[in-house]
Amino acid sequence: MIPQWIIEQKRDGQELDERDIRAFIDGYASGEIPDYQMSALAMAIYFQGMTAEETGVLTDAMMRSGQIIDTSAIDKPKADKHSTGGIGDKVSLILAPLVACCGVAVPMISGRGLGITGGTLDKMESIPGYRCDLSESEFVDVIAECGCSIIGQTEKIAPADKKFYALRDVTATVPSIPLITASIMSKKLAEGIDALVLDVKHGGGAFMKNPEDARRLAESLVDTGKKMGKKVVALLTDMNEPLGRAVGNSVEVGEAIECLRGEGPRDLMDIVMKLSGQMLILTEVADSEEEALAKLEDALESGRAYEKFRRMVESQGGDPAAIDDPSQLPQAEIESRLEAESDGVVAAVDAEKIGKAALELGSGRVKTSDDVDHAVGISAIVKSGTRVSRGDALAVLHANDADRLEDARATLNEAFLVAENPLAPGNLIGEIVQ
Ligand code: URA
Repeated sequence: MIPQWIIEQKRDGQELDERDIRAFIDGYASGEIPDYQMSALAMAIYFQGMTAEETGVLTDAMMRSGQIIDTSAIDKPKADKHSTGGIGDKVSLILAPLVACCGVAVPMISGRGLGITGGTLDKMESIPGYRCDLSESEFVDVIAECGCSIIGQTEKIAPADKKFYALRDVTATVPSIPLITASIMSKKLAEGIDALVLDVKHGGGAFMKNPEDARRLAESLVDTGKKMGKKVVALLTDMNEPLGRAVGNSVEVGEAIECLRGEGPRDLMDIVMKLSGQMLILTEVADSEEEALAKLEDALESGRAYEKFRRMVESQGGDPAAIDDPSQLPQAEIESRLEAESDGVVAAVDAEKIGKAALELGSGRVKTSDDVDHAVGISAIVKSGTRVSRGDALAVLHANDADRLEDARATLNEAFLVAENPLAPGNLIGEIVQ
């Protein structure tokens, strides 16, 4: 195989054959093909795209660059959920134990924050002692005991993606539908699952800015998953306003705990229930949305979902006292209210600006090598449609540095539009792609 001939073919818009795609990925994973040739191929794919067949082969080759977790010892249907990323998206923390209570095993391999979007691993690591770096056998043991486990991508899970993702990040080749598809699906399908529900977000706080691009990504993800023999559906959801009322790491864990205690905000719980319901339907644990909802509500109201989360945290080394009493999660030194400057109705809450303000406080990374500050973030974010008077709190900032606080406050102030009249609310949950 001559790498430059393959790059040339893709550059000129030709379809690559299976053998060449596999040889290229194998060569890249082993170090035989250098970064500069992989970058050139990525840029050619970025401009020329890939057919569904090519995307399927690329996904399979990336998945097979590592191990597929052997979950055969777990005698239950196995399903997972993946979100393309948003602001305030703590759905996984609530959904994993909730679905596990209904008889579905949830082996969840999650990511860290990317840009302004938060990451499940960073949130879980704000729980003192929680380990995201379990070995494969520890992961399977926790799932067997608790029904769910949330860990990070290990060296053995789709290593070609790990290396390629870092390269795409610095060569401006992340926003390509075939490359995103292969990246997400190669990791998720290495989990040894039967079914996958995707939450494909669109809007200011998401990767995909409009519903049309989100639909194209959803179709590519679903099509690729089905080609690989899995049951897959995708939900298109709106990410113009943050999910729930908290954005950051500890503050989001605190909100997830409230949800598991049955006290979660409406928008967040609507998405949790919808995605969880689809997981029960795909695994045939429920025949209809109504039946799924009844099972999920019972798991939540009985306190079983809360107990399961607590048990999973404890099994992974986390301190359960911090779940029982979230004031034991990392707390920032400074708390400061952002107040409404006029009377009116909150007409819009801009997710992107809120994500940027949280990043300025230090809740995410500017460079991949940065540490996140688990304690900082934004809580008590008012929802659009709320009537406010001058001086009412629109949100509370949690900071550990006075300069960062002032930068974040200025950004956060731009996130709220207080007007005389509310805007017509959009649909949070859109179509299902299947
Ligand atoms: N998340 C991933 O894992 N990969 C991408 O390419 C984009 C988002």
